[in-house]
Amino acid sequence: MALAELQALEGRATMGTYARNPVEFVRGEGARLWDSDGNEYLDFLAGISVVQIGHCHPALVEAVTAQARRLMHVGNLFYTEPAMRLAARLSELSLGGKVFLANSGAEAVECALKLARRHRPGGGFVVVEGGFHGRTMGALSATPQEAKQAPFAPLVPGFTTVSREDPGALATAVSDKTAAVLLEPIQGESGIHPLSEEMLSAAREACDRHGALLVFDEIQCGMGRTGDLWAWEGAGVRPDVMTVAKGLGGGLPIGACITTPEYADTLGPGDHGSTFAGGPVIAAGANAVLDVVDDEAFLAAVLSKGGALSSALGALGLEVRGRGLMHAFRVADAPALARRLLLDQRLVVNATGPDTIRLLPPLTVTPEEIEDAVGRIGAALR
Ligand SMILES: *Cc1c(COP(=O)(O)O)cnc(C)c1O
Repeated sequence: MALAELQALEGRATMGTYARNPVEFVRGEGARLWDSDGNEYLDFLAGISVVQIGHCHPALVEAVTAQARRLMHVGNLFYTEPAMRLAARLSELSLGGKVFLANSGAEAVECALKLARRHRPGGGFVVVEGGFHGRTMGALSATPQEAKQAPFAPLVPGFTTVSREDPGALATAVSDKTAAVLLEPIQGESGIHPLSEEMLSAAREACDRHGALLVFDEIQCGMGRTGDLWAWEGAGVRPDVMTVAKGLGGGLPIGACITTPEYADTLGPGDHGSTFAGGPVIAAGANAVLDVVDDEAFLAAVLSKGGALSSALGALGLEVRGRGLMHAFRVADAPALARRLLLDQRLVVNATGPDTIRLLPPLTVTPEEIEDAVGRIGAALR
């Protein structure tokens, strides 16, 4: 089907929630994509930090197809091995408590919110300006962005927002009536803003002082994106609960909410559930992604490739921020540059706002592809 026909179908049959670019992708391999006219692109967005080990990684394709041939679904009234194995690995690799598998990021956040409420009945939530936690009513209520929230008021009550750069205000906002502080150690959707160590420590201290849960949303910055398996490892502050999604499935829809041992049994029978979550095909895929990402040499390479990306962008005179393979830079008209990069340079990136370009390549990207991508950015800027 030609692109124009797809656009006609979109207009007729889909809710107008997305501003799509005029490109149809039909194939991917590693950090490369091909459109329906046969043009080759470099993918420095990877979904949005989803295609963590590159497009169609052979180990992921094999794990998913083998499981799809054996068994696709039975639901959570029964056991399947991939889900149990995945939960055990996620726990061991992070906070050591228990895991609730979900189908998406927002669902992982909903689980964390419910867990915190169960921990402190009636308690409120403290969230940080610029944070993004998803589009469901609970997760949206935790996302203090006027444009996203206002059309859907009234939202879930009980959320307080504090400034991204004011540890004192954060400390003051937490009380004995706070169920949890929820934040991204590195804010993704608002344009790659790492929170300072002072902010993270202030959150940890305030939660300890008042018996509130510290919840880190690692949906975008986790799964090796920063060069540590979890961003909090690099930041030196350990949460009580964390949410993971995006890169966990390498392109398949999955999320997870993970606790420390202390809060492992806060949610009990009947408290939460999901029809599809933890299905064997998706869980087998996530296990295959973890096999690749949970590797010291792989993570060290993420850090060094990220350093190379950052300094090469800096050498173009750009103001760069981020960590590992999670970077952004400022330009005057980001949406126009992103469009030029896509259509003229065949480099996929994303504008998170009027002046920010975000780069989230697959973690398997090569140093040569990084050099190539920066060359294309340089060309588009000239
Ligand atoms: C993308 C994202 C979410 C929402 O995930 P969905 O899978 O789109 O529901 C939540 N938190 C963060 C930090 C994200 O980047």
